[in-house]
Amino acid sequence: MSGDVPVDAVCTGCSQTRVKRVSEEEAEGSFRHVCHVCQSVQWMNTVARLSGLEQGGDGE
Ligand SMILES: [Zn+2]
Repeated sequence: MSGDVPVDAVCTGCSQTRVKRVSEEEAEGSFRHVCHVCQSVQWMNTVARLSGLEQGGDGE
């Protein structure tokens, strides 16, 4: 079950940070994604993995 890692990613086109769900591999680096601001496919760089969301939010 890969392909569903929530990450913060920054668009190289408009520098906006967005939450995306990507594969394990993509979460380690960069991936291409359609940016709604740029309205085209842009490279996105992963800035942080949101592991908290991944686990469904248990309180410790
Ligand atoms: Zn963009």
